[in-house]
Amino acid sequence: MQRLDPVDKVSKVLSFDFDGTLHDPAADPSVPVEFFGLIRLLRERHGVAWGINTGRSMPHVVEGLVESKAPFLPDWVVAREREIYFPNRFGRWVPDETWNQRCEKDIHRLFKKHRKLLKKIRDEVLAHTGAEWIEMEGEPAGLVARRVEDMEWIEPRVIALAAEAPDLGWQRNSIWLRFGHRNYQKGSSLAEVARRYGAKAENCFATGDGHNDLAMLTPEVAGLLACPANAVEEVREQVARHGGHVCLLGHGDGAVEALRRFFPV
Ligand SMILES: [Mg+2]
Repeated sequence: MQRLDPVDKVSKVLSFDFDGTLHDPAADPSVPVEFFGLIRLLRERHGVAWGINTGRSMPHVVEGLVESKAPFLPDWVVAREREIYFPNRFGRWVPDETWNQRCEKDIHRLFKKHRKLLKKIRDEVLAHTGAEWIEMEGEPAGLVARRVEDMEWIEPRVIALAAEAPDLGWQRNSIWLRFGHRNYQKGSSLAEVARRYGAKAENCFATGDGHNDLAMLTPEVAGLLACPANAVEEVREQVARHGGHVCLLGHGDGAVEALRRFFPV
């Protein structure tokens, strides 16, 4: 997959969640062709740098781009809600070492500090809901609920148990909950990407459909906000509250709708 020539002077940074926001597994193609055409045009006319800001790991992002037949690469990617990558001129993904390493170090230190608390959360949630605990390389702590509805019990319980650990954060998305550092989520990651481009929050656009998108769907991070029609209620409410655009269309068609609304071509 090719990388387009970098935009000379970036004036806007566009942040898209992937699953449920651009990508619809039930659609063919899974991301509308029109989306990529519009992005190409906006890069030329508005100097936008567009990126995918997702809970997926980087290999899983690449898989998604291939599967959705993306004709060119994003200008940047935030994977696992916190790792920043830029493509080199050969189309290979290069991690932003400074940010990514600092982030991993902080999370590692945090998990060590809260080992007992995480175990307490794990034991209680597993016993009560039968959820599954995940612990592996690059994914030091997380859980998968048996049903989305279980999250309605799990998250408030996590909030209560984690009250003593204000630096502990988590990202909720459908049946998944990923523990991490409060300072590293889609919002702070987008702010860092924007800082790299020299773009202010008012010149950032963000759209997403799930709970893990709430951190970037705020005016402190992005002045232009949207969500697809299929977004969860909390996201729809937050986007509306901040004067953003709640799309009539879902998934990738919603992304096209939002871009047309904010960036007339
Ligand atoms: Mg999503």
